[in-house]
Amino acid sequence: MANTTQAAIINEICATYGNDERRMIDILHAVQGRLRGIDSAAMHTIAEALSCTRVQVEGVVTFYAFFSRERKGDITIRLCDDIIDRHAGLADVIEVFQQELGIAVGETSADGRFSLDVTTCIGMCDQAPAAMVNEVILTSLTPDRARQFIRQIQAGDTPKSLVHDLGDGQNAHPLIHAMVNNHIREAGEVLLTDVPAEQGLTQALTLNPADIIDAINTAGLRGRGGAGFPTGRKWGIAAATTAAQRYIICNADEGEPGTFKDRVLLTERPHLLVEGMTIAARAIGSEHGIIYLRGEYAYLLPYLEAVLQERRKKNLLGNDIGEVKGFNFELRIQLGAGAYICGEESALISSCEGLRGEPKTRPPYPVEAGYLGCPTAVNNVETYCCVARILDRGAEWFKAIGTQESSGTKLLSVCGDCEAPGVYELPYGITVAELLVKVGAQDAAAVQIGGPSGELIASDSFNRRICFEDLPTGGAIIVFASHRNILDIVAYFLDFFVEESCGYCTPCRVGNVFLKERIDKIRRGLAEPEDLDYLRELGNTIIKTSRCGLGQTSPNPVLSSMKHFPLVYAALLKTCTDGMQASFNIQDALEESRRLAKRRSTIYDEPYKDQ
Ligand code: SF4
Repeated sequence: MANTTQAAIINEICATYGNDERRMIDILHAVQGRLRGIDSAAMHTIAEALSCTRVQVEGVVTFYAFFSRERKGDITIRLCDDIIDRHAGLADVIEVFQQELGIAVGETSADGRFSLDVTTCIGMCDQAPAAMVNEVILTSLTPDRARQFIRQIQAGDTPKSLVHDLGDGQNAHPLIHAMVNNHIREAGEVLLTDVPAEQGLTQALTLNPADIIDAINTAGLRGRGGAGFPTGRKWGIAAATTAAQRYIICNADEGEPGTFKDRVLLTERPHLLVEGMTIAARAIGSEHGIIYLRGEYAYLLPYLEAVLQERRKKNLLGNDIGEVKGFNFELRIQLGAGAYICGEESALISSCEGLRGEPKTRPPYPVEAGYLGCPTAVNNVETYCCVARILDRGAEWFKAIGTQESSGTKLLSVCGDCEAPGVYELPYGITVAELLVKVGAQDAAAVQIGGPSGELIASDSFNRRICFEDLPTGGAIIVFASHRNILDIVAYFLDFFVEESCGYCTPCRVGNVFLKERIDKIRRGLAEPEDLDYLRELGNTIIKTSRCGLGQTSPNPVLSSMKHFPLVYAALLKTCTDGMQASFNIQDALEESRRLAKRRSTIYDEPYKDQ
């Protein structure tokens, strides 16, 4: 059992959330924040307060990276360990953190003040290397800047006081107060232009729900997350159900390395987002919504809560919105907890329900039976912002931008080896080559379109167009110059998927580990041509047999790099001409028997320590 003081804190937190099991993630965030860890006794107390089992609580605690059974330091530093940060000098920054704090990555200082961890991506690839210090974001770290920050917090400064230079736009708002920069490099006419307030909602209030859905269908709006499902069709299915309750959810959990454009919309267009969600609510007949905000963007939470509060005061949320009798819609923000898989809509719904963020079996699809079993329309931040603009400017205006099957503009977050990383709002249909000119990437040799789950293309494909007809993307574009090692990039992406797999199904949980092992074999120069067949076969099996989008796209870095960079692979293969296995290594082959027999070679090996 937790001691009396801890139990009182936990019970108070649980009571704040009505002892509601479905608010488990909020409760665990609060307990982690106050007690710095959720140990067995704490889980027991939570389980009692929520009338569930301790195993249920533990299942959730152990699923999310931001919760810990061990006590974390009062100040927890999470260094962003994605490929961009690595290319931008992360190793030197980590070295400084370790030296100055006297702890290694994964450790907590003896006095309990500091913990040092790495995390997969915090959405700051345009200003890497970056880190989270509790909820505070540090950007553009160099060894010197890192040393200066550490010495400040060692001297007693709070994480918040590390922010000397405020970022641009609303990043300087007192409720955000972040050194993050928007890096808006090109504003298009839909989202990043000056947007008139509430024009879309005003128009929607004059229409009946079916007319709103018609407008979205006519505009040809497709989901901006990458899959491109028609938004109006999704809403039509939800609206046609006979359920007593329907839900609107915003997926603000962009977690793909290289993606940060929703961060900019949440910072600069939060009202447009909520306006779009409110229009969606009117279209499908929903009274409740949730914004699922990724845990890494917790620094935006107070600001977004204030936006909701302001809208309630203006009668833009709540009951009888805009004086329309009976049009009621209320929203809450659900903070995520460091699980990439929660970007998958059914996993996100599980997380909103206070469960492990595991994808659900489909059918039924969320739009038929989603949050709490009710029809639920899940769209991302950019999609809802487009909705508000379509209602404001009209479906035909939106349809006229972009290509035949890809209406409107697309926000692209571009990072990596280019002069101007940042956010570009461009009409669908722009070629990769045109984009590379805009971002100043003269030496681009490879471009990852759509993050790790997308396609890694070479210069002979730079004439391809970014749109659903050719290269679809959720928005992540990573540029790699000619001096980058393609196989290091592929290996990093595989590590990412191994780390982020929820582990539910075997092809994804195990298959990606095997892919990684085989890629490592190639990197060591020990592979033979058959290894490429193995990669192709295994990759396609994982795609066909995985349960959700993560597994179904995780082999893409391997398969697309084999397709577009065959010479990289060919250069590292050993060809066997004498019938012998080129990769055979007598020392490796003997290793297992040596270990079991605890015998070492007097010629080749160091003795085992325990002999
Ligand atoms: Fe989980 Fe991967 Fe299976 Fe998706 S494919 S359910 S992430 S194990």
